[in-house]
Amino acid sequence: MLDLTGIPVVDNHCHPVLLEQPKEVLQYRAYFTEASDPAFARQHMANSAHYLWLLRQLAVFFSCASKSDESEVLAARNQLDTDTLIERLYRAACFDTLILDIAHPLPEMCYSPERMGQLGHCRAVRMLRLETLMQDLVVKTRDFDEMVQLYSQALTDLRARGYIALKSIVAYRTGLNIARWTQDEVVASFSEARATIHDGKLRIKHKPLIDHLLHIAFLHAAEQELPIQFHTGYGDKDIDMRLGNPLHLREVLEDSTYEGMRVVLLHESYPYVQLGAYLAAVYPQVYFDLSYTIPFVDRLEMLAFTRQALGIAPASKLMYSSDGIYLPEMHWAATLRGRSIIAQVLGEMVENDEFDEEQAYLLARQILHDTAYAVYRL
Ligand SMILES: [Zn+2]
Repeated sequence: MLDLTGIPVVDNHCHPVLLEQPKEVLQYRAYFTEASDPAFARQHMANSAHYLWLLRQLAVFFSCASKSDESEVLAARNQLDTDTLIERLYRAACFDTLILDIAHPLPEMCYSPERMGQLGHCRAVRMLRLETLMQDLVVKTRDFDEMVQLYSQALTDLRARGYIALKSIVAYRTGLNIARWTQDEVVASFSEARATIHDGKLRIKHKPLIDHLLHIAFLHAAEQELPIQFHTGYGDKDIDMRLGNPLHLREVLEDSTYEGMRVVLLHESYPYVQLGAYLAAVYPQVYFDLSYTIPFVDRLEMLAFTRQALGIAPASKLMYSSDGIYLPEMHWAATLRGRSIIAQVLGEMVENDEFDEEQAYLLARQILHDTAYAVYRL
């Protein structure tokens, strides 16, 4: 069995940890499902493979007497202040870099990237979420041309502003089938969006407007050779999963004006894993993220998507992540899962005479560390 514990991990997509951590069992459970109905966590989490596995890992980590007692794990967890919890978990995880989407949860509820880096003894860098920027500017600006101008300004020289990537959640809002619209359609869409502003807040879901602003962002990304992460596949029920299929990105990927823009398909495009890995295998600019905490699936499903990704795309197109959010054990748990699953799958490939053990180790290094260094210029 390959031992990958010595490879410091770049978590290429994750979110900050909440300052206020849950203390009660039901509160805690609710973080481990994408189902928004509170009854779901109460009824079904104790019967969910990924959650039962996590409790077992935490029971070992906290040296609990029982291997699987939820309340004992939570009691042990509650004894630690959050700083200590983060520090202990992240030290065990051995991170090189955390690449954070700081748009969710709200920054005022969370540890800053700087603080997470300090506690984790690692680097922490940030990406810019486009839809959040769009919402802010549409709320603030009455005039369409002025809004576009401010938006474009905000996207210039992004590395100097401290961002190493862009991120889009368009899959959640209007779908990955990003189209071209006429100026009239875009301006009308802007007016419709403005009309839905409530209490100074907007949830942008106006397709011509979002698509138009994304195309502007793509030009900036291409010019600055900045990668863009797209949410693809599995999400909460807000997403129309039919439009989360990464094959919808064809027009963007085929557009030669965006050649300098590297595209990262997040969350292994689950369940469109083979399709996303295929895109990484045929488009030089496409990279494929393998996420080991969210989507919430069990080890067997993780083995399946890792086998598919490694079977289809070069390891130099694959990057590890957790999609960890809210709780520090999510970032930590993914390193347990990721290292062990990647080692198992590469080991199987060695047994099948695809390559030798030394080559397997180098491929693992690419997934856990090297590919992200190249893509994000760390
Ligand atoms: Zn995410």
